[in-house]
Amino acid sequence: MDTTNPPGNERICAQFLERELSEVGLSCELLEAEPGRTNLVTRYRGSGKLPPLLLTAHTDVVEADPTKWRRPPFSGDEFEGCLWGRGAVDMRHMAAMSAAVMRQLAATGAKLDRDVIFAAVADEEAGCDLGSRFLVEHHRSKVEAEYALGEVGGFTLHLGDATFYPVQVAEKGFCWIRARLTGEPGHGSMPKHDSVVTRLGEALARLGNAHLPVHATSYLTEFLDGLRAKQPALIQPLAKLLARPQLLARVAHLVPSMSIARSMSALLSNTAAATVVRAGAKTNVIPGTAEFEIDGRTLPGQTNEDLMRELRAVLGPDVELEIIKSAPPVVTEPVASPMFDVIRRQVELREPHATVVPYLIPGFTDAKYFSQAGARWYGFSPIKIEKDSGIKFAEMFHGTDERVPVAGLAWGVEVLDAVVREISNQPA
Ligand SMILES: [Zn+2]
Repeated sequence: MDTTNPPGNERICAQFLERELSEVGLSCELLEAEPGRTNLVTRYRGSGKLPPLLLTAHTDVVEADPTKWRRPPFSGDEFEGCLWGRGAVDMRHMAAMSAAVMRQLAATGAKLDRDVIFAAVADEEAGCDLGSRFLVEHHRSKVEAEYALGEVGGFTLHLGDATFYPVQVAEKGFCWIRARLTGEPGHGSMPKHDSVVTRLGEALARLGNAHLPVHATSYLTEFLDGLRAKQPALIQPLAKLLARPQLLARVAHLVPSMSIARSMSALLSNTAAATVVRAGAKTNVIPGTAEFEIDGRTLPGQTNEDLMRELRAVLGPDVELEIIKSAPPVVTEPVASPMFDVIRRQVELREPHATVVPYLIPGFTDAKYFSQAGARWYGFSPIKIEKDSGIKFAEMFHGTDERVPVAGLAWGVEVLDAVVREISNQPA
């Protein structure tokens, strides 16, 4: 199903899920903010002793260039033990697993103490406006829950000989900013050394080379502690490095090819990437204004104002900054919770040598909006990846040859089903 966003067309996915769910007697609501941009919500009723649990996945995907893939990106082929296709990892696998769990609950007539809601949402890849945000703003009572399970986490992470299952408990905020320079316009035949275009170039270079200050958060240190807890000697040097955020930041800057250091370094500071640049319209006119846009990301505990202060220190008073759009970080506190404990128990029961660790992600997810409706968010879409499979799960988001092992998917359904049943049958 091609739900490349834009234009989305998530309706085809929603209608497919509706057929699968109605087969076992679950009634579905299809809710649209715009024609074709369909969200599906269904609910399996429990006794109501405990508040609801929400399973959620977005059904839209990012574009895929078929000429770069070994299998067609919308084929859904089974090949080399994997299910191939755009969205296999991000994140149709969770939509499929959630639907499978809902079907099993209904088919077995499970007696639960809480309702289990499943929301398959549109538009996450373009910022959630027609998906989770629309549901929370216009249909809040249908998706209100105590806990939500979604992306990112639950996949096998191999580091040296050790195995981890990261579970997202926090995500960075975003703060998109317009930066503007103004100056005297002029004729292109008489260059000026201080033209806005020259100053724009200098500002972009300053930003691109800047290292914003390190802020170690409890989310990162708990992740690092989790990694260190079960370390074989092989990765001790790495573990020591990971345990010292300031040192890790320096290594990430010095050795940018070290991919773990680079991805960790985004978790050590607010970040700011220049993305869109605009200046001038005619070859012979020196323009009077120049602009660029900055994709800023804020750590838990940091505000837009903190990021703006760090940017002003880099860019100086010459550059005017204005916030275009922002959303704060999402944090699920405390990390120690019944849900985290259930996830840990169910995963470690099946993978005794693995460690479940809390995880902070640099991007954003539907957690931004579902958490506004009260849900404590856990990034848990369980998938087992064997070490020798050659699949680096985290690198498959928006990547080529996106695929998941079929056996790992079956494992995921079993774990997700067990987590849902256990968390829904606890004494209040
Ligand atoms: Zn996603």
